Amino acid sequence: MTSSHTRKQEPQGPKSEPVIITRSGHPVSRKKIDHNAVKILYRLKNHGFKAYLAGGAVRDLLLGKTPADFDIVTDATPKQVKKLFRNSRIIGRRFRLVHIFFHGRSQSMPQIFEIATFRRTFTLDQDEADNIEEHPELANNLFGSPGEDAERRDFTINAIFYNIADFSVIDYVGGLRDLKDRIIRVIGEPDLRFAEDPVRILRALEFACRLDFTIEDETARGLMAQSEHLNEVPASRLREELKGLYIKKTTSSLLGLGCRYRINHHWLPPEIAENCPASIPFIRQIENFYPTAENHKELEKMVVAALILPGILNDFPLAENVRLNQIQELVEERLKPINQRFNLPRFQRHAIKDIFTLLYRIGRGDKRVKKLLNRDHFFAALFFYAAINNQAESKPNHFSFWQKQCENLGRNPKARGLNYSALFSNRTAARR
Ligand code: ATP
Ligand code: MG
Repeated sequence: MTSSHTRKQEPQGPKSEPVIITRSGHPVSRKKIDHNAVKILYRLKNHGFKAYLAGGAVRDLLLGKTPADFDIVTDATPKQVKKLFRNSRIIGRRFRLVHIFFHGRSQSMPQIFEIATFRRTFTLDQDEADNIEEHPELANNLFGSPGEDAERRDFTINAIFYNIADFSVIDYVGGLRDLKDRIIRVIGEPDLRFAEDPVRILRALEFACRLDFTIEDETARGLMAQSEHLNEVPASRLREELKGLYIKKTTSSLLGLGCRYRINHHWLPPEIAENCPASIPFIRQIENFYPTAENHKELEKMVVAALILPGILNDFPLAENVRLNQIQELVEERLKPINQRFNLPRFQRHAIKDIFTLLYRIGRGDKRVKKLLNRDHFFAALFFYAAINNQAESKPNHFSFWQKQCENLGRNPKARGLNYSALFSNRTAARR
């Protein structure tokens, strides 16, 4: 990214002077872009439309990382896009997007690309939003120029475009500079942008953790000042945002940063936020032990269990005399506020309750291995039993029995090839 900086006037954009870097000055290569995404970009371009790769894909390609998905923006309207691609569908009422599907022979699920029309910040009142189907002109008011589209995005590093027409990289918001300086900077006025969509507060922390970037001072001040708004975020949206954290294994570092910026009590129930410092090492062990491809539902139940674990252990240490129905009642009570925040499905709540019942059975000295193995969540409970050992000063009761059992348990298909023996002998590594 060293040479060929040219400045070009953008006709409609608000601040409208992007930095444009020609192909020789940046590392984004078509070879690194999914070939179906390249096809879509070319088809749009060949029909006379602007076609840009946008968002995380450009950021990741500039950083030399493999993008998770490839979002495309264009000046073609959703209807025009739909016309160009047979394998597509218009989705959304307020913000219309087009999904283009590719059914590969080897894939059971179709590959989906999201194509958005350049958008500008535009607020509809509720009445207008409800009636948008009858008033397509309102939807058209949402559309804007590339410059406006960049400015309504969250962070400068997420608002860089790659233009298929000349392979240039286009930056309206100083994203290239921030990428080079490894900085997370919100676009526009921090207080306003975080209040407008408080999920951006978590996203700022998330990108800082994932990319190992620093949050710029004004952005940090703004996100702290507006963090109260986090409790307005609907449960479904919060849960959706957290999914990504589990898979990318950034939950523990996000919680750590949340403690540092003192915002966790605004998005987590108070007692969970208070216990965060004790939960973080358990979540770190989960992230170290389970493979990256683990599905998010598996990881979600483990992380939520880790969030309530310190509080429960405080009331009931693993011991012979613990009554299982007391544990079940306590787990239910502790899950209630979490459930209000994240709207956990019933099967997840059941699974978590089961994990705790089994954990305390193991802790009480139940050694009926065959019987325990029949239970779905036995291995999850065994994980926590070992994890507690790895955090505690002294070994829990019956530790050596289970340590020995692990030599054989590893071969059980329910262990899914995970190395439980290592977990039981990993005390120092896990505590690091
Ligand atoms: P990831 O690698 O996690 O997919 P991403 O940056 O692509 O990272 P997405 O959630 O896929 O994140 O969103 C795509 C793009 O949409 C972002 O890069 C950003 O430009 C924009 N965006 C997403 N969420 C917001 C938001 N809450 N406010 C403003 N812009 C957003
Ligand atoms: Mg993305």
